[in-house]
Amino acid sequence: MRAIDLQVTELLSFSEGAIDFQGRRLVLHSLNAFAHLRRDLVEMLGWQQTRRILTRFGYFWGHADAAAMKRVFQWDSLEEWIRAGERLHMLQGVAHSQIKSLTVPPEKPFEMEIVWRESGEAREHLLEIGRTDAPICWMLVGYASGYCSFCLGRNVYFIEDKCLAKGDRVCTATGKEADRWGSVLKSHLPYFEADDIRGKIKTLTKQIRERNREVDAQRKKINALERQHLPPTVEARSAEFQQVLDLARRVARFDTSVLITGESGVGKEVMARMIHQCSNRASSVFLPANCAALPETLLESELFGHKSGAFTGANEDRRGLFEEANHGTLFLDEVSEISPLTQVRLLRVLQEREIVRLGESKPRRIDVRIIAATNKDLIKEVSDGRFREDLFYRLRVVEINIPPLRRRKEDIVPLSRHFVEKISKKLKLPSLRMESSCIDILQSYHWPGNVRELENTIERAAVMSHDAVIRPSDLPQSVIHSRLSDIPGSTDPFHSNLQELEKAHILRVLQSTEGNRTRAAELLGISSTTLWRKLKQTGVS
Ligand SMILES: [Zn+2]
Repeated sequence: MRAIDLQVTELLSFSEGAIDFQGRRLVLHSLNAFAHLRRDLVEMLGWQQTRRILTRFGYFWGHADAAAMKRVFQWDSLEEWIRAGERLHMLQGVAHSQIKSLTVPPEKPFEMEIVWRESGEAREHLLEIGRTDAPICWMLVGYASGYCSFCLGRNVYFIEDKCLAKGDRVCTATGKEADRWGSVLKSHLPYFEADDIRGKIKTLTKQIRERNREVDAQRKKINALERQHLPPTVEARSAEFQQVLDLARRVARFDTSVLITGESGVGKEVMARMIHQCSNRASSVFLPANCAALPETLLESELFGHKSGAFTGANEDRRGLFEEANHGTLFLDEVSEISPLTQVRLLRVLQEREIVRLGESKPRRIDVRIIAATNKDLIKEVSDGRFREDLFYRLRVVEINIPPLRRRKEDIVPLSRHFVEKISKKLKLPSLRMESSCIDILQSYHWPGNVRELENTIERAAVMSHDAVIRPSDLPQSVIHSRLSDIPGSTDPFHSNLQELEKAHILRVLQSTEGNRTRAAELLGISSTTLWRKLKQTGVS
């Protein structure tokens, strides 16, 4: 039997509901429907997966045809059996195939050059997807590879170089065995091989689960360490602050709302973070929100999220901090500053444990612990009618009042050391240190700006220092001059003159009023102008 004698109609038999091709069933379907499927595959799976699927589809088709040809006919030679494949493919209406050259073993290694005119695959691709940069007759390539591989009993790969779909007049392809292709084959080979997506997903899922377990274990270790070694900013030597920390640790374990009060700069956010770290929520997020920083609508959108179009500028749906902080802790700083309307919304969140995004009506369940903070007297805000009483009690299930730094002077030394270390990293001054004579001055100052002022003072002094050593002269005048022990006459009045005593007294009064000159003048029984003049005379800025 010779390939040229092959007639496809002789191989087919038609009956109602079935077309038989030498014992195998065929169906006729529209190539255009297949082109639609192809487009869908590209859109759903991308080019690479689509190419892989269609190449392999062609490969199985070719493989099956080669087997059928062997079963049905007695071929004159291997070459005729191979040529029959291209003839059969053409008779099936796939393309007008023409073998340009062919060598077969054992005389020569296998090599075939083939031309496809009017490739149906390329035509439909052009119609449904459009012109391409690379050849796309993936099924044709697959078929030729599958057919010839079956005939030769080893892998043969066809690679298309010219293609109708990229603007060439005809499609051309060459087929060779893998080792004769060399490195050219490398980028084509994956399309002939099965992609075990399920296996990959299984492996990845397993890896992710293992990683998650590792992360959880690490997180637990970190949390335990953090509990043991609290940041020095909340280190307490003073008895008063130790009590505060004890309370914070005890309350951390429960999901109750906490209100942190204290002057500005005492470290309310640091305390809130510590409570979060010591809580069961430590492995989830801690999100801070400053309620004084944003106008009403923006704050509401920040906290509760919004639907696209809820207000001007809301161009897309957005999750608020309550949703972002789910299973974690939300820290509401300067909570006294929120508007009456936002107070109502916040109250509802605390009561119902659900939020409604701006512009939506659908409530969303949330599980968030609230820690609020204020430097105002909230009880006074309530009695003045500026803050809702019901919200106040919801927020202040437990109140933690952080004492000002001047009431816990023992903490100034560890805090200062911590800040020197922190600032040396920040300013990239590894040898930064502070002369011990500074400590005395820092401990004598009354720190109206509290821990934050201490940190800023040390950073400023570090910048002023010449050789990365902070000396008393690098400290700000305001800190140096308010030192009580430095004021002449404060210890030995008989060795001071009247002017020095007056200066000492003025400074002490000023210290007691925390620098408020109007109050100081009142206490001294002089006018503000006189006080200003006296301060100028004594050289106090
Ligand atoms: Zn092509």
